Amino acid sequence: MPSKPKLRIGLIGSGFMGKAHVFGFASAPKVFDLPYDIELHTLADITMEAATAAANAFGFHSATDNWRALVDNPEIDVIDITAPNALHKEMALAAIAAGKHVYCEKPLAPLASDAIEMADAAEKAGVKTQVGFNYLCNPMLAFAREMIASGELGEIRGYRGIHCEDYMADATSPYTFRHDPAGGGALADIGSHALATAEHLLGPIAEVMGDCVTSIHERPDGKGGTRKIEVDDIGRAFVRFENGASGSIEGNWIATGRKMQHDFEVFGSKGALAFSQEHFNVLHFYSTADAKGLQGFRRIEAGPDHTPYGRFCVAPGHQLGFNDLKAIEVAGYVSALAGQGDEPFNFRKGAHIQGLVETIQASSSERSWRKV
Ligand code: NAD
Repeated sequence: MPSKPKLRIGLIGSGFMGKAHVFGFASAPKVFDLPYDIELHTLADITMEAATAAANAFGFHSATDNWRALVDNPEIDVIDITAPNALHKEMALAAIAAGKHVYCEKPLAPLASDAIEMADAAEKAGVKTQVGFNYLCNPMLAFAREMIASGELGEIRGYRGIHCEDYMADATSPYTFRHDPAGGGALADIGSHALATAEHLLGPIAEVMGDCVTSIHERPDGKGGTRKIEVDDIGRAFVRFENGASGSIEGNWIATGRKMQHDFEVFGSKGALAFSQEHFNVLHFYSTADAKGLQGFRRIEAGPDHTPYGRFCVAPGHQLGFNDLKAIEVAGYVSALAGQGDEPFNFRKGAHIQGLVETIQASSSERSWRKV
């Protein structure tokens, strides 16, 4: 069998997302026909001990406690950043300057201006980029998007989008990088996913009216004291889409009991959709064309009719998992690196989402509507 060119990955960070990216790199070549053989080259983390343990567990050839060694290594093609938000810009700009392709977790950077600088640098250098908005990779979202675009729901009038979890609901849980005033907060951390999904389904948001709230004003600093919290625990916005639809978006990390409520509802003149990420292999569809007395939301189970589900499993209803979404994300990006299609969600798009976050925050401070 002719061998494919190698794509050598340098991964920064080995936490929650580092591991998810490794799952993506490991399964994408088995599920999709990729243009490259993926090689897990070097893993960087803060200490040599952490980097070596993760490199061994994940199957990387080598480990380092200096992420710059990855950037400087001519053997590495893609720098994959899963480190905390405040580090994304410095790492990505160094990688781009070294001519590497860059795959980076969301939010792309603490400030939209930083994210724009990163997108500009990547485009100027001609390198390809990807931001980790993995929920967009769900086959049921692709299906929902097609239904909306094809007119199945008629004229789209209303939208409700939400991303709620409760990982910050405990006021005694400590200050983390997610509370950093530069780019932290629930709206940036998870509301960004809700914004990306809303625009993926309905197109651009034109205007917002934000309401960002800090409910827990200080948290343990991990050294016996407390630290003031300046970022939002809840970020909400009324939104108007360019297509005329109106709606609301919420990002909330103190939503007690909610573990992964990345949900949406779309209301059209001929039908409606309802979706919850906690059951993300299911899409509910309501059609006004159904006979009277039989009308109601029908439950559609994900299956091979919903591309690319069938690549993972031939049987409907057997369900994909979170890490499979990362495999779909990796497959789209790796194909784009070989010129097979566009980058699914590049730095320019990531910068746009960061801009939406900041527009909502500014609108909340001014207590008035803002154009995007
Ligand atoms: P984490 O704390 O679990 O992991 C971060 C990793 O980065 C750790 O291994 C840490 O040691 C390492 N790190 C920190 N500083 C470093 C440095 N200077 N050099 C090398 N490594 C360093 O965090 P996480 O939950 O994986 O979040 C990481 C990123 O992923 C964040 O930007 C976050 O917003 C994003 N994220 C995305 C999703 C998603 O669904 N797409 C979900 C969770 C987190």
